[in-house]
Amino acid sequence: MIEGWQQQLKDSLTRVETLAERFGLDPAPLAPVAERYPLRISPHILQLIETPGDPIWRQFVPDPLELAETGLVDPLNEENLSPVSSVVHRYPDRALFLVSGSCASYCRFCTRKRKIGCDGSSPSFRELREGIDYIAATPQIRDVLFSGGDPLLLPDSVLGDLLDRVHQIPHVEIIRIGSRVTSTLPQRITPQLCRLLKCFAPLFLNTHFNHSRELTTEVVAACNLLADHGIVLGNQTVLLKGVNDDPSVLQELFFKLLKMRVRPYYLHQMDLVRGGEHFRTPLATGLKVMASLRGSVTGMASPQFVVDLPGGKGKVPLLPEALSQSGASTRIITSNGEIVDYPDM
Ligand SMILES: *Cc1c(COP(=O)(O)O)cnc(C)c1O
Ligand code: SF4
Repeated sequence: MIEGWQQQLKDSLTRVETLAERFGLDPAPLAPVAERYPLRISPHILQLIETPGDPIWRQFVPDPLELAETGLVDPLNEENLSPVSSVVHRYPDRALFLVSGSCASYCRFCTRKRKIGCDGSSPSFRELREGIDYIAATPQIRDVLFSGGDPLLLPDSVLGDLLDRVHQIPHVEIIRIGSRVTSTLPQRITPQLCRLLKCFAPLFLNTHFNHSRELTTEVVAACNLLADHGIVLGNQTVLLKGVNDDPSVLQELFFKLLKMRVRPYYLHQMDLVRGGEHFRTPLATGLKVMASLRGSVTGMASPQFVVDLPGGKGKVPLLPEALSQSGASTRIITSNGEIVDYPDM
């Protein structure tokens, strides 16, 4: 028997012709884009699009600008940091375990555009086993991040089996899951799934929301169910031109997330990924957002602004220019712009 969320996935929009018909567009310029980078829009996301060009549209509808050849195919150098194909190991103590090659809706700005949703991107059982063997043989790893693609597109039985195998490795102390289904397919968050996840505490689920328009009644209910089962919820947002590159949009998103018991964790500077350059903002945009948050929302709702450096050099948090040197003292600029001389050591 297939579950409700699996039916939703089957009913997703995947053909350019259907998209063009629905919104009265010319399919010709979109076809080569979707051929190179797959199209999938879940029914839940489709009904959130109000007008072409709105913040939901821009995240999921293919754009001919994606065919630009600038940017990096593998901006974080992940292929070279993969000891086996299903693991990315950059920091000694933690590793990404790529358990799925597809998502409930394809973000046009995805860092792993080179492969997500493409043929052959789903790891085989052998590749998954090699990933578990690698983690088991590497005692420095105490934090395993299930990622992909979207780990929650796996059926409960497969996901439960993988979580169980990783959980049983003695040196693995915490498990994290990165998933966007809370936004794109909230039907996936069933009571059975929550009961399953509860078995692997301490378990952290990092969601991915970019605009408060994604926070529908169904989405709030899904997050509540997870939180009620003791799953600790965090959120990652990508700073995207034309979607959320506006301090007031992000202030609203972060505060609403906090109220849903989803703690803002990272605001990501858009990576240098090929096909995503039209989403990139200058670093100053993110710094301006961060400065605006301090004066207007509680610190609990304020994420770190991070840039993931090209070449796999890792994430670096950036702060608004709060510091400057003046003789013996350090000048610190407060959230309302006042300069205070701080007697530094
Ligand atoms: C982002 C990332 C992590 C997790 O980093 P945290 O800052 O601990 O959340 C781990 N491995 C890789 C390869 C990453 O890109
Ligand atoms: S949900 Fe994440 S992995 Fe999937 S397409 Fe979006 S950014 Fe990429």
